[in-house]
Amino acid sequence: MIPYQFIQEKRDGRALAPEAMREFFQAYIDGELADYQMSAFLMAVYFQGLDDGELSTLVDLMVHSGAVMDFSAIPGKKIDKHSTGGVGDKVSLVLAPLVASLGVPVPMMSGRGLGHTGGTLDKLESIPGFRTDLSLSEFEELLEENGCALIGQTEEIAPLDRKLYALRDVTGTVESIPLIASSIMSKKLAEGLDGLVIDLKTGSGAFIPELERGLELAETMIGIGDRYGCETVALVTAMDRPLGYAVGNALEVEEAILALQGGGPDDLREVTIALAAEMLILGGVAEGIEEGRGLASAALDDGRALEKMREIIEAQGGNPAVLDDPALLPQAPVRRVVEAGRKGYISEVNAQAIGRAAVALGAGRATLDAVIDPGVGFHITAKPGDEVDEEVALATVYAATSEAAERGAAAVEAAITIESAPGPIPPLIPYRVTRDGVSEYQA
Ligand code: URA
Repeated sequence: MIPYQFIQEKRDGRALAPEAMREFFQAYIDGELADYQMSAFLMAVYFQGLDDGELSTLVDLMVHSGAVMDFSAIPGKKIDKHSTGGVGDKVSLVLAPLVASLGVPVPMMSGRGLGHTGGTLDKLESIPGFRTDLSLSEFEELLEENGCALIGQTEEIAPLDRKLYALRDVTGTVESIPLIASSIMSKKLAEGLDGLVIDLKTGSGAFIPELERGLELAETMIGIGDRYGCETVALVTAMDRPLGYAVGNALEVEEAILALQGGGPDDLREVTIALAAEMLILGGVAEGIEEGRGLASAALDDGRALEKMREIIEAQGGNPAVLDDPALLPQAPVRRVVEAGRKGYISEVNAQAIGRAAVALGAGRATLDAVIDPGVGFHITAKPGDEVDEEVALATVYAATSEAAERGAAAVEAAITIESAPGPIPPLIPYRVTRDGVSEYQA
């Protein structure tokens, strides 16, 4: 395999031989192939795509570039959830303990905030003492003991993806369906899962805003999962507006606690219950959506999910008292309420603009090594379709300084559109995607 000829093959749309792919990627892993050659190859894939055979080879190489977990000694089907990323997306904090409380083991590996979207790890770390940097053996022990453990992607899992992702991030090659699908699925497959539910976000605040491309991504991931015996199902959920009210790490943990107590915003509860039902079906605990939804609602309302979260926090070194007294979470010193200022109907709460404003407050990272401020963010109670008048509070800004609070307030005002008549509201969960195809979601 001569690297530049291999790159030309992809550039010109010819099929790549598995052996040549293996040599090319192995050379990269071994440090014998330059970043500029891999970048050129990734750009060729961006334009030409990968056929099924090439995609399988790439996934194989990524999965086996590092450790592959084997949880077969732990009884039950191991099921995880992956979200393609959103604003105010605290679902994992509710979903993982909820599903584990119903007897399905959930080994959950999460990421940090990326761009304008938040990350579960950053949220969990706002719980005083909570450790997400468990070793893989601690991860397995806790999964066995508690039926759930929540950790970050370790160095050992799919290191080839880690290297490629860093390169894609700076070479304009992130938004390629085969590259995204192989990247996400390689990490999930290395987790040794039996099933996976994907929360595929769609709308302005999503990583892939266009529905058509989102569905193509879901179908590609489902195909990869099938080839590995990891049944994969996706729900398409709205991310044109933030999920729930809270955006920002500790604020989102507080809202997740409300949901674990059987309350919280309706949209958060609805998305969590829908995803939980899918995980319960894959885990063999529910036969269908209705049964799964019923089981999930009951475990939120009768405290089983909350008690499971208490066990998880204790086991991972955190202070479980936050569940009874959320004031123990980091708090921002300055609060500023944003009022509507005029009468009308909310037509848009732009999730991407809110996500960016949260990063500017310090809730996310503007640079790779930036330190997150866990207490800052927004509480945005305005939802598309709401009727408001001048004095109605649309949002509260939680900031480190009064200047930051003013900037945050201006950003929220710009992100929320008020019109004289109500407009259409996209459905919260428009589609369900399985290996049998795409159908409208029926609760
Ligand atoms: N998340 C990932 O893990 N990989 C991608 O390529 C995109 C999002």
